[in-house]
Amino acid sequence: MAEDTILESTERTSGREALRKNVQAAIALAGAVRSTLGPKGLDKLLVDDEGSTLVTNDGVTVLETARVEHPVAKMVISSSSTQDRVARDGTTTTVVICAEMLRNAWQLVRQGVHPATIARGFALAEDFALNVLEELSIEATDEQILSAIETSLAGKLDQAMESHLSKLAFDAGKIILKDGRADPTRVKIIKQTGGTMKDTTLITGLALAKSRIHPEMNERGGAGSILLLDGGLEKRKTQLDTKLNITTPGMIEAFRKAETKGLISQIENLVEIGCDVLVCKEGVDEEARQALCDRGILTYRRVEKKDLDLLSRACGANLVPDAQRATKGDLGSFINTREELRGGVNNWILDAAEGGATLIARGSTEGVLDEVVRCFADGLGVACQLLEKPVLLTGAGATQVALGRRLRRHAESVPGREQMAIEAWADALESIPRALAANAGFDGIDSLLKLTAAQNSRGDSIGLDLQNGEPEDAIKRGILEPLNITKQAISGATEAAISILRIDDVLWAQMDAQVPDGIQEQMQGFGAE
Ligand code: ADP
Ligand code: MG
Repeated sequence: MAEDTILESTERTSGREALRKNVQAAIALAGAVRSTLGPKGLDKLLVDDEGSTLVTNDGVTVLETARVEHPVAKMVISSSSTQDRVARDGTTTTVVICAEMLRNAWQLVRQGVHPATIARGFALAEDFALNVLEELSIEATDEQILSAIETSLAGKLDQAMESHLSKLAFDAGKIILKDGRADPTRVKIIKQTGGTMKDTTLITGLALAKSRIHPEMNERGGAGSILLLDGGLEKRKTQLDTKLNITTPGMIEAFRKAETKGLISQIENLVEIGCDVLVCKEGVDEEARQALCDRGILTYRRVEKKDLDLLSRACGANLVPDAQRATKGDLGSFINTREELRGGVNNWILDAAEGGATLIARGSTEGVLDEVVRCFADGLGVACQLLEKPVLLTGAGATQVALGRRLRRHAESVPGREQMAIEAWADALESIPRALAANAGFDGIDSLLKLTAAQNSRGDSIGLDLQNGEPEDAIKRGILEPLNITKQAISGATEAAISILRIDDVLWAQMDAQVPDGIQEQMQGFGAE
């Protein structure tokens, strides 16, 4: 045998072996989260090295907590993390589809199709699918937006709690929606242990667990102007070790007086510019408190920087370092201010034109509270996406099956081996309805076949009813998902699968230049044959 043919075949064997291992890693990873998929998905108990535990059925949480070393598995995990960041949902779906794409690709490689051809076919399939998704999507009503939020929380908490949090997330989204934009960071979350999670409520306006600094201060109510101070109203604390040389009696007294005068003159400036409410990052001295009270300036102190930032955005106020130099231009405005006692905690609540809402999360333990906050944040992410762009796709496996059917028809028109890759890609999507059915205790393949047949006669919106494993209209049942989540899951999975298929090519190229030891041995064995 000529040397170059030997080299060629050896390269191919090693390349395939590398791909096989990478595919195996992705499949193993998907195996770790597949059972959490869908409303009937099971929970995982995660234990870290310090022994603290977390029960979750959130795919990305499982994967991010696991200490995974395999570089390919890490790539798949990072596609899931991206999904979480960009779409806030669909993380398990991304991993399951990606692994299935690779599994199917591997079957094709075994039949002699080159990974690069498969990668091309996958990219073609993705392009086609993204267009079909637009066609399959529906304009959402408010009621459907709420259903989609509920779908995204399905299986995370008990059902009553899921609908409670979905409603709160939807309401919060509506409050912060301004000019077609809903920025979830405008919603503040306060965690309060005690009570049950059903006591979790939403307040219009920004709430801070604070009381005014002087009980005699007028609570006011109504609209006014606000100044945010990135400091306090305190007598200066000497920064350096300075010495005061006391030479005459009464000097300390005079020094203190001068300091108090300084504070009062700062407050006079606040009166001058027309400040009604003052919020300080730091403290306020006793004399200043009384002076503020006398002048009718409602004051709150020791407010965290991140809350000051929220207030600044909501009221359009500047954060000023020094009350003495504050000007009218630094003031922001609000619509109303009030204090309210909730669950034994006093809250100061401010309504401002630029909106803002506060979730007061309640729960019996820190763990429960964290779960409530996580679910609300996920629901809010979905709510904001849908309020900005109310476009939905069906869930319950309906979209994946509809897409698969169209792709197979489309594949017939594609000449060459890419056709096989497009079919393999379409098959991979169907791993979602299969897993949903299997997790609900039904046979995955039977359910998929029934579903496909039902779509053929009843239309694209037929999905699986996981109560009985039967095909049912997903739109009627309100199993809906934002277009963006499904799109992102499909693109993310495809991109990760393609880059993993390409890794093989890279290994190939490297081996060309420098053949690693193990392979050198194999080659020698091979040549001796
Ligand atoms: P992911 O991390 O991918 O979001 P989930 O565990 O949240 O995974 O499961 C999402 C899947 O569950 C979606 O395919 C969605 O359509 C499906 N699903 C959610 N609720 C239902 C339901 N009531 N009936 C059928 N399928 C559902
Ligand atoms: Mg989900």
